[in-house]
Amino acid sequence: MKKLTALLLVLALILTLSACSDGETQETGGNNTGEINPADLNSPPETNQPESEKNDSQETETPPFSENFETPETVQKNKMTIDLEFQDPEIVATAVIIPEIAEGEFSFVISNTLTIEEISNSSGSLEWTKERIELPFRYDLQKVTVETNSGDAITIKYSGRLQGHFTFLTDKKKTMDFHAAWYPQEFSFPSNIDNEIIVKISNLSDYTVVRGEYDEKNGQWIYSTKGFVDNDCNIIALKNGEHFYFSENGINIYYCDDKETKITASIAACTTDALKYYNEILYPNHERGGGIITIFSHSAEPGSFGGAYNRAGVFIYDGIGDINDISEDEFLIDGIPHEVAHFWASGADTNSWEDWLNETAAEWSALLYVLHTYGQETFDKIISMYIEYSPNFPPIKTEDGSRPYGVHNKGTVLFYEIYKEHGEDTIARLLNIFVSLDEKTTENFINEVSVKIGEDIAQIIREGIEKE
Ligand SMILES: [Zn+2]
Repeated sequence: MKKLTALLLVLALILTLSACSDGETQETGGNNTGEINPADLNSPPETNQPESEKNDSQETETPPFSENFETPETVQKNKMTIDLEFQDPEIVATAVIIPEIAEGEFSFVISNTLTIEEISNSSGSLEWTKERIELPFRYDLQKVTVETNSGDAITIKYSGRLQGHFTFLTDKKKTMDFHAAWYPQEFSFPSNIDNEIIVKISNLSDYTVVRGEYDEKNGQWIYSTKGFVDNDCNIIALKNGEHFYFSENGINIYYCDDKETKITASIAACTTDALKYYNEILYPNHERGGGIITIFSHSAEPGSFGGAYNRAGVFIYDGIGDINDISEDEFLIDGIPHEVAHFWASGADTNSWEDWLNETAAEWSALLYVLHTYGQETFDKIISMYIEYSPNFPPIKTEDGSRPYGVHNKGTVLFYEIYKEHGEDTIARLLNIFVSLDEKTTENFINEVSVKIGEDIAQIIREGIEKE
């Protein structure tokens, strides 16, 4: 029971944030050595340039190692470049953007633990104001409003400590992502900046930056979000000689604790198996998850799993555990297929109550995989935990539209009510309706369910989202 409680906590913390839809570019290529490589052999730096973009089409792009790519003159709209330095335990960064407006105010959001030192353009320092703001998934944010007077590039200098899920700035590992809000985000002008952030990291020659490229000439790591529509700038820098690497069948696993070595092959196999189940059985009309998958385990102490996410093929686990087999651990039995399912179960607004769609679809994809792979008893054990804890969570639909606590739980139990009456096939149809939606909202989902399955099921969902 202790384990089930731990699993519940994990599931409450598992974060969606997956943003992978049909037609998005995934990583391709890479090696498939199938060996466990202690990092004293130095794990090969992964490239995050899709193979398809390494050919002639690259010429039209700003080359990543261009001498002056980071200067304000060369920054283009819808791009951001960041010079980053780790000065433990702080970061020191300079971000350069061109706002979509030439004159007037614009704003962005960044961690409130960081100090904005200067915001300037070619004419000099600009005025800015800041206020605290709360947004899902991130702690202690500040919204910075800048008054600009030209369409010039704007330089934002900032530094400080960070906190957030999966954020660690230590000698052994430096990991920080969207949750830490370590870079300007949520711009007030319409922007695709997240789709092309180039980070140039100095003073990390003794580290491997996951999905980065090392620029020998300048002694810097270059990390780019280009090619990944992943709404994240996820830096994972691991000290050489102090991390481990495993690669098999396009699945690259990085981890920090040797104890996890024995489970890595099973993690890769389970990821591959879940992908196969979804592609071939559950979602045969929606092929996803091709290319390289990167898994990073934070290697937390056994039993302290604190969540996981999949954002466009990068899976972050708090820890994958000191165990011999996946079937010994409820989190891995259900958690890996849940994260894999986010290749399909994504697209609804993760910042609002609508996230129940992503999470319910991911969890039920995983539950159908569990049923298929481990059988009814294991399935029942997992669902019983959801039922037990469901009364602790608020209704799915919140009055103010915000994302409710325990967003995974209530929807999973709601679908279980449908499963009990109408069976596995109906759940599979519901999941496929969600995956096929153009605009993933609860309203659209219920309308489609009413048309394609029946008004009775649509009504169960309509009532279920309001239920205490
Ligand atoms: Zn999830």
